[in-house]
Amino acid sequence: MECVFCKIIKGEIPAAKIYEDEKIFAFLDINPVNAGHTLVVPKEHYQWLDDTPDELLVEVVLTAKRLLTAIRAAIAADYVAVNVIGVDVPHFHVHLIPRYFSDNFVNWPARKYREKEMEETAEKIQLYIK
Ligand code: AMP
Repeated sequence: MECVFCKIIKGEIPAAKIYEDEKIFAFLDINPVNAGHTLVVPKEHYQWLDDTPDELLVEVVLTAKRLLTAIRAAIAADYVAVNVIGVDVPHFHVHLIPRYFSDNFVNWPARKYREKEMEETAEKIQLYIK
């Protein structure tokens, strides 16, 4: 089954487009956290951020920065959260989520580290950095 974002980019299924250029497509998330919640997507299909070529990633981030400024002004948000999740749709995308200090949404569940777990985790990750 073809990727839903590829279909949106090709115009095969509708979306509320806010921006398009040669490499990037941006449209409103169909289930917004707040109105104006936008997805910034490279037109070429890559699943994860680390699959995406560096030059294209730069384009996605710079476009996200431009659009974020416009969204914050247009929607009168207090700030715009920038999230990368990618669990539901396997086509790399950046969420731009207008937020209000008063919305009080919890971003994700948080816990405390056990004793030594924090240092051990940092050391473990450092071993894999190329
Ligand atoms: P995730 O892959 O976890 O970053 O989430 C994918 C996001 O894509 C969700 O927030 C969905 O609401 C959104 N989404 C899925 N299908 C569509 C669609 N047809 N149009 C707009 N947004 C969509």
